Amino acid sequence: MLPVQRQTRTQGRKRRSHDALKPVHVASCPNCGSARLPHTACNECGYVRPGLKLSLSKED
Ligand SMILES: [Zn+2]
Repeated sequence: MLPVQRQTRTQGRKRRSHDALKPVHVASCPNCGSARLPHTACNECGYVRPGLKLSLSKED
């Protein structure tokens, strides 16, 4: 399928103005220092917040 009509530079650029990817926010785990996403448990040690730590079981 071909486009019916060629799009102008402006129209194409307007569409792509929303295409940029935002960088992923990364916080470092205060327990072990590895990178983790904010508001999530640490992948390495399971730390969430003081007093709450998930026990991780390796699934692989
Ligand atoms: Zn950690």
